[in-house]
Amino acid sequence: MNINFDNSYARDLTGMYADWKLTAAPQPQLVWLNESLAVSLGLHIADLHSTAGLAMLSASQAPAGAQPIAQAYAGHQFGHFSPQLGDGRALLLGEVIDTHGQRQDIAFKGSGRTPFSRGGDGKATLSSVLREVLVSECMHALGVPSTRALAAVATGEHIRREGMQPAGVLTRVAASHLRVGTFEFFAARGDNDALRRLVDYAIARHYPIEDEQTTPVANKALYLLEQVINKQAKLIAQWMGFGFIHGVMNTDNMSISGETIDYGPCAFMEAYNPQTVFSSIDAQGRYAYANQPAIAKWNLSRFASALLPLIHEDDDQASTLALDALSEFDASYANASLAVWRSKLGLQTTNAADQHTNDDHQLALDFLQLLQDQSIDFTQGWRCLVDVLVADIESETAQPKSNSFATLFSNTENANNWFALWQQRLQQHTVARHEQLAIMQRANPIYIARNHLVEEALYNATTHNDWTAFKQLLAAIQQPSEIGEHDIKLASPAPLEVTAFYKTFCGT
Ligand code: AMP
Ligand code: MG
Repeated sequence: MNINFDNSYARDLTGMYADWKLTAAPQPQLVWLNESLAVSLGLHIADLHSTAGLAMLSASQAPAGAQPIAQAYAGHQFGHFSPQLGDGRALLLGEVIDTHGQRQDIAFKGSGRTPFSRGGDGKATLSSVLREVLVSECMHALGVPSTRALAAVATGEHIRREGMQPAGVLTRVAASHLRVGTFEFFAARGDNDALRRLVDYAIARHYPIEDEQTTPVANKALYLLEQVINKQAKLIAQWMGFGFIHGVMNTDNMSISGETIDYGPCAFMEAYNPQTVFSSIDAQGRYAYANQPAIAKWNLSRFASALLPLIHEDDDQASTLALDALSEFDASYANASLAVWRSKLGLQTTNAADQHTNDDHQLALDFLQLLQDQSIDFTQGWRCLVDVLVADIESETAQPKSNSFATLFSNTENANNWFALWQQRLQQHTVARHEQLAIMQRANPIYIARNHLVEEALYNATTHNDWTAFKQLLAAIQQPSEIGEHDIKLASPAPLEVTAFYKTFCGT
């Protein structure tokens, strides 16, 4: 194994983690490897398949140059502050510079107990590992910033959850594992020096200041806050556009880099209902689909609060500056969200504030209302608009009412009016049809990691060692906008009664 580790977190952020050792898994077996990701990280596939490769990917033995550490962090969980969380079942193995020149963390989930494990066993079920593989790869393929899954290993061990279940280790790749909760950990301890080092580190790694010599940034903490606000606003807008529900948007699960992180009880919505919640522990619906933008803003206010002592030495001035920055979230989210809905509608996205802004936003809202009124699957409903456009292009005339729309939507006045308005709006603008189509296709996927398909794939793989469904689903979601030669069921929602009772669990 020859991996060029360069462990900047361990080097620059001493005192913010615990050094830790890996422990051997009893009977590890590599069950899945993301070869294209491995190549982009500059890793050799043959190495990863070797004995040393398996020792690494099962979190049994660290290769030369790695420096396994458990990172400290705190977090607001369901609104309540826990001053000490940290990597209780994860470890950062080290960092590499990938073939695009980007620094990436290589980390484990399910690698065993650490000083941060509290009462937990530090393990993960193989099923939860494979779930993260499917959902995170789906998000990546959809173009949503996300941590990636490099490998899944079955450790040969069985752990107690609901009954005994096979355990697994996920190797996760992330732009970093800095979280809002990382800052909260040191803010809660009044450690301004640590906070300052974290701010410098986060800026250098994720939001480098161009021309720092000529135009230095006077207030680095405020600058970082503004960058993260903007990045998160864009991220959440993308989640909303794909019907993604994270499920556990605690501040320890909000990444400073703006990647989607910590795939626990997350799920994609099927029949559209903005109040949808899947997580079994989210009894109040705090992290429901429609709440996600407001929760993101709340989390960012926790971030701002952690940074206050660095923003200004005077408390009042610090608060004013932080609140000003936070107030930008709404505009930032509105812009990002408009761009998302416009792409989905096949409308021009470049100009956020033209004379159609309000109309386009309303057009999207009305479409969502139609989906809700008629209990239509979010993904299929939007994809149907692509089919309409394809049919129009093929016949070279705009159809008064396309068949694909008529098949999915009931023939109501609302549906017909909406369709007419949308057609009218499409006529108004100047983008070439094929360009419009390409944008729309990307924004409106055919395949997503549907809950019932994910469950079927996990069940077959972990109980029958049958990987057919897993591979088929992964192949479809890796090219989510290509029809391909997939079973039609991969593009179809579960029966409503299945979806109505679907629950996800975290900490599994
Ligand atoms: P999560 O729900 O994965 O975001 O985890 C929240 C916190 O609980 C983190 O500090 C985790 O490290 C910790 N945690 C979750 N599951 C376990 C486990 N099985 N053993 C130890 N710590 C855990
Ligand atoms: Mg977490």
